[in-house]
Formats: sequence, C-alpha cells, structure tokens
Amino acid sequence: MSGVALDPRTAVAFPMAARAAMGDTQLQKNVRHATDVIQAKRARVVGEMPDWQELRETGKQIRQHTMEHLDVYLEEFERNCTKAGGVVHWAQDAAEARQIIVGLAKAAGADEVIKIKSMTTEEIGLNAALEAAGIHPFETDLAELIIQLGQDQPSHIVVPALHKNRQQIRAIFQREMNLPDLGETPQDLADAARMFLREKFLRVKTGVSGANFLIAETGGVCVVESEGNGRMCLTLPETLITVAGIDKVVPRFQDLEVLLQLLPRSATGERMNPYNSIWTGVDARDGPKAFHVVLLDNGRSEILGDTEGRATLNCIRCGACQNACPVYRQTGGHAYGSVYAGPIGAILTPQLMQMEHAQSLPYASSLCGACYEVCPVKINIPEVLIHLRNKVVEQNGPMNPEALAMRAMGMIFRSERRFRAAQRLGRVAEMPLVRKDGLGEGWIGWLPGLLGGWTQVRDLQAMPKETFREWWEKRNG
Ligand code: SF4
Repeated sequence: MSGVALDPRTAVAFPMAARAAMGDTQLQKNVRHATDVIQAKRARVVGEMPDWQELRETGKQIRQHTMEHLDVYLEEFERNCTKAGGVVHWAQDAAEARQIIVGLAKAAGADEVIKIKSMTTEEIGLNAALEAAGIHPFETDLAELIIQLGQDQPSHIVVPALHKNRQQIRAIFQREMNLPDLGETPQDLADAARMFLREKFLRVKTGVSGANFLIAETGGVCVVESEGNGRMCLTLPETLITVAGIDKVVPRFQDLEVLLQLLPRSATGERMNPYNSIWTGVDARDGPKAFHVVLLDNGRSEILGDTEGRATLNCIRCGACQNACPVYRQTGGHAYGSVYAGPIGAILTPQLMQMEHAQSLPYASSLCGACYEVCPVKINIPEVLIHLRNKVVEQNGPMNPEALAMRAMGMIFRSERRFRAAQRLGRVAEMPLVRKDGLGEGWIGWLPGLLGGWTQVRDLQAMPKETFREWWEKRNG
C-alpha cells in the first residue's frame, strides 16, 4: 500500500517542505520534464478546438448550475441509482466513509480488494483502514501501483507518480516484483505491471473505485482512464464499491458531451480518453452483482455555503492548474502536505480541512493567474486564494502581525497627508540599509523582521529621492 496518506494536520508546513523539495534536483527535473510534456500536448489539442473558450464557458455554466442545485441533483442521482439496483450510502466525513466501505468489503467476504481511480480514497485514508481490518488493497492504476509498491504518496491528481522517472520506476518493479532482469523501456515496465496485475484482476472479487462523474438523470457513474485497468476493476469483481465526493454529480447525460471534451484535453493532452466507462446499477447477465456508491461530504457542504469559495467545487480534477503552476513546478506535490497539490490543492485542502489545518497553502502561489487560464471550467483560483488569505488573517485574530500591518497600510492609504508623511519617513528609515551599485543606484539587500522574507531571495530597490507626485508638482510649478 502507499505510505501514510498526506495529511495537512500533521504535515510539515508548506514553506519548510517547499525548501526541502527545492533542494532535490532529481525531483525538480522529473516534475518539470513531466509537466512540460503534458503542457505541450495539452496546448496542441486545445489549439485544435476553435470553440475552446465557448466550451470552457459551457463547462463553467454546467458546474455552477449543478452547485446551485446540488441537493436536487444528488437526490435525483440516489433515486435513479437505486432504481437500477445500486445502493447509495451517505458519508458525512472521512471516518464514516471508511467505516461504510470496510463494512461492505467485509460483508462481501473480502480479504483483498482491487482499486482504481481513487484520489477520494486517498482523501479519506482508505488503504490504511482496509489494512487495519485485515483487507489488502491492490492499486491497479499504473501510477498508483508505482506509488503503492514504492511506499510513496501521490504527488499529482492525474499523474500520481509524476515525480518518478523511468529508472526509479524500474528499480521499484525490480525490487517489489522480484524481477532483477527487468528491462527499462516503457514496454518492459508496462509488461511487468500487466503480468503483476492480471492475476489480481482474475482472482480478487471486490473492487473499489472513484468516479469522475455521477449522472443524476440516469443514476449512472462515469470513470475515464487511459489504461483499461479501470475497466477490469469495474467489470470483473462480484462486488463494486464506488466512493465519490458529492461534488462529482452532473445533471444530465448530455453534460458529458462538454465535460468529456474538456477533461482529457486538459488532463493528459488527449482528444478523448481511450477508456470511458459508464455503468448504471447492476445487471444479472454481466458485471458486478452488487454495486454500492458512497457519497462523501467531508467538508464539501460547508464549502458550498461559502459563496466565494464555492467555485472550488466546480473542479473536474484535470490537474492542468498543477502543470501550469510555477510554484508546483518547483516543489512537486508532496510539499503541499495534502492529497490535493498545486493550485487546486491550495484552495481545496484549506477548505476541506477547515482552514486552521492548512494555513500556509493559500500563500503557496505567486497569483500569476496561469492556473485560471488553463482551467477548463474557468475557476478563478487566484480570486479564491485571496478570499482564503483573508480568512487566514481573520482567523489569526486582530493582533496578528499581518492583520496589524494591513490595518496600518489601510490607514496610510486612506489619507494623502499620511501617505506623503509615510514616504518621507520611509526614505529616512531605509538610509542605513541602502548600498549603491556601480551605476549609483541604491539597493537594499537586507530587511529586518517579517520583511526579511522579501530580501532573502531578492534585492529591493531604494525609494527614489523624489516621488512622481513631487516631480509633477514641481514641473507644473
Ligand atoms: S481547478 Fe481547474 S485546472 Fe485545476 S484541477 Fe480543477 S478543473 Fe483542472
């Protein structure tokens, strides 16, 4: 199984973890190479679509509309899924979801389960709970398998093993599959994984999956993937347990027409996923004989109640924002200390974990807007980040240094007289810190206290002797 799931309650805070990650040059090389490749593929296939912006807008409208009527669509999903022979379970939080799934697996007599497409199971820490109950989970997505065998954690929502290169993967397979002579071509590695997994697919009778979408109109569930392992997991077991966040619902089957164009292009640069599985309930002639859906809230209702944070739930988990983010590209995913990394993690985790557990994440961004530009459903991530930063400041109380500094700035900016006085004072205060360069320009290389963070990695230009306003007043006499 994968190592202990990343948990912002216990993880090292982002600034410290990021510093450590940035010292790992191999990790940086792997992350940059993988994200460059995916971004180039994405740009190519997005460029083929003359109506890409219209599609994004439609995707946004679908998601916004769904969130505005989420209760209605969830109930519709439950009705239709039940009618088709599925059983719907509601889980308020991660503990309840774990309990339900472990209970269902035990009731099916399972001591092993095969798993697919399961960031949500990472979110609830399911693997550890299954192991504790004596049930061994086998990841079957190739990247998840690499993570599991390497006792590692996922670092990307679509490509969980993106931080590993081919040689590292080969070493894991050699060690864990006992294949000392394994070659190093992609074909060799894929063959090894296929042989390893095939036996599991044929033997294990209980499957656990995530979901890309839940379709209210039909009670159907949709999983998209590239390898076909998911399809094996969804069709071969006798019992299938799907766990999905309540935000995964879409109103109509036809909405997939839009979302299944946006998702694969944004996620992996494919025009369409090679495998798109959509199933509804059970059928006596084929497939699993028992089907359960666990609908997970785990903080989502609270996000829904926050009008500014709610857009976070529109996410279709494509990972494009991670690939585009200059911060993620430097640090990789583990530094976020959370199952969801990158820009989506920076807004989702603090809300799922009720802010106080993930205070540093809304600051893990340069607010450059690259994430907003690539998001297929137009989530304005920088806007949500600023909203969350406000919340952090509020939560830390009126006397925390940032709140005090912002209040002082606010007072200064509200009055021209105070603003001018502050400029004069600033010029005097900086004098002992200013050093001249060869061209006579003044630079500050060190600032005291909290401001020191700014000068740790850059110099600050000294204030000009004369402000624009003073120059303008003089000029106009
Ligand atoms: S926020 Fe947008 S870009 Fe990021 S994973 Fe979600 S849908 Fe994709």
